[in-house]
Amino acid sequence: MRPPIHIHLARSAGFCFGVRRAIRMAHELARKKQSVRMLGELVHNETVIRELEAAGIRKIRRLARNTNGILLLRAHGASRELINRARRCGYRIADATCPMVREIHRIVRRMDRRGDRIIVIGDRQHDEVQGIIGQIRRKALVIDAPGHIPWKAIRRIHRAAIVVQSTQNLDRVTPIVAALKAAIPRIVFFNTICRPTRMKQEEIKILPRHNDIMIVIGSRTSANTRRLYEISRSLNPRTHWIQSAHEINRRWMKGIRTVGITAGASTPESATQAVIARIRELSRLSAKVHSTSAK
Ligand code: SF4
Repeated sequence: MRPPIHIHLARSAGFCFGVRRAIRMAHELARKKQSVRMLGELVHNETVIRELEAAGIRKIRRLARNTNGILLLRAHGASRELINRARRCGYRIADATCPMVREIHRIVRRMDRRGDRIIVIGDRQHDEVQGIIGQIRRKALVIDAPGHIPWKAIRRIHRAAIVVQSTQNLDRVTPIVAALKAAIPRIVFFNTICRPTRMKQEEIKILPRHNDIMIVIGSRTSANTRRLYEISRSLNPRTHWIQSAHEINRRWMKGIRTVGITAGASTPESATQAVIARIRELSRLSAKVHSTSAK
């Protein structure tokens, strides 16, 4: 019999507390038989969305007029304009915005009132960034990479406040902050990358170095899963990004002794357990699971 495959599971794998809280709120509302709608997806995971829909929560593409239902705001938060529009349509708001995202909203509003120009480091198209820039009337600048700094606009700014999308990679953020600090006379930087993301990123810098292959579990639409995958891939080319256990290829297990596993913040525990079970099956029950941490 071949020696056992050791599975090293990141302690931070799977739901962060913001996502867990949003899902719990959704199920509590559904249990009360309320008419609950989510605008788009509450979290970026197809299994979770299917479970929510099965519980009676309907996904809508746009706000309906003259309704009396409940609109559940997602963990990423929403712009003020969207919330006001929903209220005008008759929705009651159930706010599942993660407390850490809400803190970014507070910072942005406070610094905007002080007269600082708001700069957000993050992905412009991401719902969280849309929600952040939608907290203020003045146009915020969004920067997603050092090569995309709008220098013409930056040179006209005398005071600014920088915040960061909660799931950004600090290594990508640092050079942007350094360049902005050198160019803007009065600038404050708020590192708003959330604690669960930092933990995940610390672990993902270690696990790929100590395992023969890496498996990152999460939806293709999940920005934080993508970042985990990118970091892992840069450290270990044998990194595989899968959405479910069915995608595991038997050939990946050939000749290996160790597998590192992590999962995005919106990946349910059941998906991670299914991956572990599949690896066990492929290695004929000779896999040992270890919980591991960067600390
Ligand atoms: S990733 Fe961070 S900010 Fe986003 S929901 Fe989770 S804990 Fe909150």
